[in-house]
This record gives sequence, C-alpha cells and structure tokens, in this order.
Amino acid sequence: MPALSSVELAPDERLQVVATNTIVADVVRQVGGNRIQVTTLVGPGTDPHAFEPTPRDAAALADADVVFANGAGLEIFLEDLLQSAGGDVPVVPVSHGLELHQLRDVVHGRDEEGAEDDAPANGESDPHTWFDPNNVIVWSHNIERALSALDPESDTAYSANAEAYRSQLVALDVWIERQVALVDESERKLVSDHDVLSYFAERYGFEQAGAVLPGFSTLSEPSARDLAALQSAIRAWDVKAIFVGQTANPDIAKRVADDAGVALVALYTGSLSGPDGPAADYLSLMRYDVTAIVQALR
Ligand SMILES: [Zn+2]
Repeated sequence: MPALSSVELAPDERLQVVATNTIVADVVRQVGGNRIQVTTLVGPGTDPHAFEPTPRDAAALADADVVFANGAGLEIFLEDLLQSAGGDVPVVPVSHGLELHQLRDVVHGRDEEGAEDDAPANGESDPHTWFDPNNVIVWSHNIERALSALDPESDTAYSANAEAYRSQLVALDVWIERQVALVDESERKLVSDHDVLSYFAERYGFEQAGAVLPGFSTLSEPSARDLAALQSAIRAWDVKAIFVGQTANPDIAKRVADDAGVALVALYTGSLSGPDGPAADYLSLMRYDVTAIVQALR
C-alpha cells in the first residue's frame, strides 16, 4: 500500500478518484459516498483483462488524487498508463492483504500434463477476488483507510459508510450460503469460460471441474488438447452447465457446451451491467450470478 498524505480540498471540492473497473468503482462509491468524485476506466461490459486505455484515460489519471485498482494482477495495463499520465498519483490495490489463490491450487478436471504445459503467460494468481464477499469486506477496509488518509476531515463519514456497507456484505454472504444449500453437494461443480470462480468455489463448497480458457485471464487460448481434456472432464464429472462472463468471447464455450450437450449460462464476471441492467452494483451482480448458478445446477 502506498503512503498517503492528505489532499488540500476547498470547502466545496471533492476528492478526485479513479477506479480501474466498474466493480471497484461501486465499492469505492459505497465507502466514499457524496464526498468523492469517481471516474471509471474500464466501463460496463468491457473485459478488464483486454482493456486498451485511451489518451482520455491518461488525462483522468493525471487529474486524480488517487487510483483504486483491483490489484492481484488484474490490471496489466495500469503501469504503462500511469507512466503515460506522467503524474505520481498513488495506486491503492483494494485486494491488498488478501491471500491469493495460485494456479496450482485450482482443482481441475484438466489432466496434469496439459495444465503444466499450458501455464498462462499473464497472471499466476487469481485476480477475481470479488467472488467472495468476505474479500470485499477487506476491500472496504482498504478503501476506508485510504480515503480517510487523503481526506481526514471526512473520516467519520467514510467509517460510517464502510460499516453500513460491510453489514450488507455480511448479509450477502449469509444469503449466498442459503442459496447454494439448495444445490446438492454432488452437483456443486463449475465449468467457466476462464478460471474466474476459485474464491467462490472455496467459500461455498464448489469444485472447479474445468475452464474453457486455461488460466486466470481471458487472454489465454485453449489448445486442441485442452478442449479435449475439458470435454472428457465434463463427461467424467457429469457437469450440467458452462458459465460464461458477459465480457468474454462465448464462441468456444458455446461449441464446447453444444458438443457436450450441456447448458451455456451467462454470468456477470469482470464488469457490472449498465445502470438499468440486472447487475448495476456489486451486490446485485453477486445475487444475479448466484441465482443463475443455483438454477442451472439444482
Ligand atoms: Zn477474468
């Protein structure tokens, strides 16, 4: 975490905050409330792994008091972008302090040999920390600490906002536990477009039977052998559905699902929906995804 010192703010001036993606932006807003002005780099419906920043993003960064990033290796574009912005804006990785899942820890139906040969080029640890609300509780503490350091005059407001939001995250966790209890333990098997659900799987007692794209990023490509191994894992594990993010290219996943005769189910993974969609904020995203997973597997 960077050392943060307080920013001089005029009485009617708000902290200028950049968030790298819509999920981080939502949680930052929950803590910052109306005392901060948030600009989001990777907008709704955009794959956070494949993002290409524009000069406008560099300008937003140059004007910012702070950048909140997911961290954990998600924002591979950020270092170059910070450099081209030319400033020395501090970056707070909201996942700071979390124990990250490593690729070797992810249980898979893929055969060992294949998994080893096809180690992904970018990202050895799972950046999708938001798929466990308990991790987002850690985010909220990191955000609260950072905002309070930058704007100490509002620290009681930030603490109160964060505390209220954390009680909603605890309620979400309880709700998810009740929902997944509707799925028989033997049916708690996940195949996704890339390895996006390891924190969810660990928290709620699911196994990851496989992924269409090997690894934690959508930027990897499956080999013919990967796909064959996935097909046999789907059969061997008697998997009912493949879960795909709205931002990933669904073509290969659709072919695998068609070949295996299993359902293709859309989730929100790396981005919120637009404000009028069913995943307009983080809590809605999780409720949407859990409902879809439970409906597909029960
Ligand atoms: Zn992802």
